[in-house]
Amino acid sequence: MSDKHYSFFGAVEKSFDKAAKYTKWDQGTLEQIKQCNSVLRMNFPVKIGEKIEVIKAYRVQHSHHKTPCKGGIRFATSVNLDEVMALAALMTYKCAIVNVPFGGAKGGISIDPKKYSAYDLEKITRRYTAELIKKNFIGPGTDVPAPDYGTGEREMAWILDTYTSMRPGEIDAAGCVTGKPVTQGGVRGRREATGLGVFFGLREVCNMPDVMDKLGMPIGVKDKRVVVQGLGNVGYHSAKFFQDAGAKITALAEYEGAIWNDAGLDVDAVFEHRKKTGSILNFPGASNYEKNTDALEKECDILIPAALENVIDGENAPRVKAKLIGEAANGPLTPEADEEFSRRGIIVVPDMYLNAGGVTVSYFEWLKNLSHVRYGRLEKRFTENLNAHIIGQIEELSGKKVKETAREFIMHGPDEVDLVYSGLEETMITATHEIMNAWKANPAIPDMRTAAYVVAINKVGTSYAELGIFP
Ligand code: GLU
Repeated sequence: MSDKHYSFFGAVEKSFDKAAKYTKWDQGTLEQIKQCNSVLRMNFPVKIGEKIEVIKAYRVQHSHHKTPCKGGIRFATSVNLDEVMALAALMTYKCAIVNVPFGGAKGGISIDPKKYSAYDLEKITRRYTAELIKKNFIGPGTDVPAPDYGTGEREMAWILDTYTSMRPGEIDAAGCVTGKPVTQGGVRGRREATGLGVFFGLREVCNMPDVMDKLGMPIGVKDKRVVVQGLGNVGYHSAKFFQDAGAKITALAEYEGAIWNDAGLDVDAVFEHRKKTGSILNFPGASNYEKNTDALEKECDILIPAALENVIDGENAPRVKAKLIGEAANGPLTPEADEEFSRRGIIVVPDMYLNAGGVTVSYFEWLKNLSHVRYGRLEKRFTENLNAHIIGQIEELSGKKVKETAREFIMHGPDEVDLVYSGLEETMITATHEIMNAWKANPAIPDMRTAAYVVAINKVGTSYAELGIFP
């Protein structure tokens, strides 16, 4: 990748404009959809050791066409206003595509979390939350943060605790943030949700005969050669679900390097190796790449960039050999890379829908928090009793015994994780078809990203049109 500077928000605007011409909306409505509605920029002091550090942080609410606003919080030195605005905009479109009734938002703190102790990170996170509370930028009905790059369950628990301390007695307080530990109101399945959504989305594309025909690949994910960049939460789980479904993970990349093995890498073993040695390199049976970006250029069926934005641009895109690219990260391709792939007939499955599994399950978590009951609690036992009764009747009437494996499957009443997985599967399958149908309905639409934007713009546009304008 070249070190040319891109405005990430500019790239999102560019993709938006490209799609807007395939919609019926007037200039004013399009402008309203495109702009960020509210931007909060903060500088706050935190005492680190004996010194005071001034921390730069942001929260951007891109759209209020539906509330609360929703989006993760990123901890990274690269965080800046342009990036947070772009990511907030992507959240609006993402939620619209998967029919999650939220407006888009995003937050970020410009720090390198690896350079701070857990104690200092807690202080920074709590102070950030206090700033959000002061400005009414957090709450179950206003704006609901979640994990993103550099944050996880631990940070979400600190946010929740700060919020409940400052807003005592608020009955729905647990819904002020998602991605929490299960013991603190989180939902089972949230941790792997983005990776699982990536898998469900790509699997659906791989099951479309016309698409696979165009790409010259057989239907299904089995035996597909998959390259994954990034072994964080999203990359790890995406790779794992593909491996479990019979695909071959032929290369894995992290920031310290990349490895490959055409016979397939065992994702868990590589993960353990990295944990033990501190590096992905020198994994037994695999070969090292010279540069970590070499993995992106490996011959494969599916390439999944699952780390940060702008990793494939006009410079390295011509060397990418994948047939299908699944954007698990937010914004891994620049508009120049997009043009190159569309020219070469490579299908790019776009970020704002493909990685929507996280926010979809966040929605399930938020609903759980507002309903104050775990999914499956009311119906699990009832369903199991009912199914046992049905099996009993079948056996009595037929005089035959149902096989033990079938009995187990039929008897099973849904647990929380079963319902979350199936809700996510349904969401990703429906969204894939909605986008593909929009693409087919207008053959002038050049690529899947533009088709996804058309779907998103139409949904947000309809929402604004029906709401009217507050005088
Ligand atoms: N940070 C994730 C994303 O970019 C999840 C957001 C959420 O759950 O609200 O989609």
